[in-house]
Amino acid sequence: MAVLATVAVLATALLVWRWQAGDTYVAPAPETRADGADPVVAAQTLRRLEAALRDGESGPTGDLAAAPDSRAVLSAAAGNVAEIGLEDIGLRYLSETDSPMTTDGWSAEVEVVWRVAGGDGQNAARAAVEFEFVEGGDRIAGIGGDLVPLWLQGPVEARRGGGAVVVAAAGSDRVAAYHRQARTAVAEIRQRLGRRTNLVVEVPGSPAGLDRSVGAEDGAYDGVAAVTTGADGSVVPGTPLHVFLNPRVYGDLDQLAAQVVMTHEAVHVATDAPLARNVPLWLLEGFADFVALQDTELPLARTAGQVLAQVREEGVPEALPSGVDFDTAGGHLGATYEAAWQVCEVLAERRSDDDVVALYDAVVAGSDLAAELEKRFGWNEAALTRAWQQRLRGLAGSAGG
Ligand SMILES: [Zn+2]
Repeated sequence: MAVLATVAVLATALLVWRWQAGDTYVAPAPETRADGADPVVAAQTLRRLEAALRDGESGPTGDLAAAPDSRAVLSAAAGNVAEIGLEDIGLRYLSETDSPMTTDGWSAEVEVVWRVAGGDGQNAARAAVEFEFVEGGDRIAGIGGDLVPLWLQGPVEARRGGGAVVVAAAGSDRVAAYHRQARTAVAEIRQRLGRRTNLVVEVPGSPAGLDRSVGAEDGAYDGVAAVTTGADGSVVPGTPLHVFLNPRVYGDLDQLAAQVVMTHEAVHVATDAPLARNVPLWLLEGFADFVALQDTELPLARTAGQVLAQVREEGVPEALPSGVDFDTAGGHLGATYEAAWQVCEVLAERRSDDDVVALYDAVVAGSDLAAELEKRFGWNEAALTRAWQQRLRGLAGSAGG
C-alpha cells in the first residue's frame, strides 16, 4: 500500500534548476532555409490566428489550417481560450528550426504567450512552441515539439471558483472532483498559513500529455502524482506557477491522499517554492507536507509508514534528507518525503507551528538556515538531526509494524 510512495509528491527538484524552452527563444536560424519557407507570410498567418484566438472564435481558424487534423487543433484552441478565460494571447514568429517536420513545409519556433484570467494575476506565461507551416506559410499543418501547452493540445474543460481554476483535457470524468480538491487546498492555505492564493491546476489526458505540457523528457513524470512548475515549464521569476497532475497516478489516489497531494502542491505555489534558491529540499518538501497533513485523519502508518519501516529495518538515517535522496530515480522517495515531514514536526514540537512557518518563510526569503535554526529553536543542525532521529526511533517503536 504505497500510497504516499507513488505520490512522490512534488518533483520540483527536477525542474528547479532546469531552465527550459520558455527562455530559449532565440534559436539561431539554420544555415539553409527550407524551400518555400517564407517567415513574413508565416508571421501574417500567426497574426490572423492570434486575432481569432483573442476573440475566442473558432470559425476563422479553419482558413488557417492545412488539413482536418490541424483544423481540429486550431479550432479547439480558440474554444479553449473562451472555456478557460485566457487573456493576453500572443503569437510571434521566432525562427525556423533545423528539423522540418515534412518535406513540403517547414517548422519554426513560435513564441506563445497566454495568461489564465483570475488565476495567474498579471503574469503571463511564454513558451517557444514548434509550428509547422505549409503552402509558403499560408497555412499551419501542425503544432508540435517538446513543449505544447495543454490548451494547444486539444479541447479542454475548465472549472473555476473558490480561488481555483482547473483545466482538464476533455473527456475526464473527474473535473468536478479535481476542482473540489483545488478549492479545498486554497481554503486550507488560507486557514493554516493565513494567506490568499489562487491555484491553477492543469490535468493533461495522459502522462505523455503531462510531459509535453511542461516540456519534460518522455516518461519523466510517469511515477509522479503532481508537479508544480511554471505554466510554460520554466522556473523563472514572473512566470505564473501551475500545478500539473498526472491523471494516472493522481487518479489512483483515494480522496484523502489526493487532497494531501493537492494541498502540498498548493503550498509550493503559495510560497513560490520552485523559485527558492539555496533552500534544502527537506525544508521545501517537509514544509509542504507539514501544512498539507495538519489535522490529518490519516494514520501514521500511512503518512509515515515507509520511513518507519525503514527505521525498523536499518535504524535511523544518519543525516537529514539530502538533495540526492529526493532524486526521483532513487528507490525510497516516499520514505524521504516522510522523513522530511518529520523534521518539520520535530521543530513544531520544540516550539510551535507558527515558528516552523516563520523559519520557512525566512529561509525561502534568503535568510541563512543555520542562523534561523539557532535564533528560533536554539538548535544547530546536529542538534536538530539528533532530535529528529530520536523522534523517528520513538515512532518506529510505538507505531507497530
Ligand atoms: Zn513537493
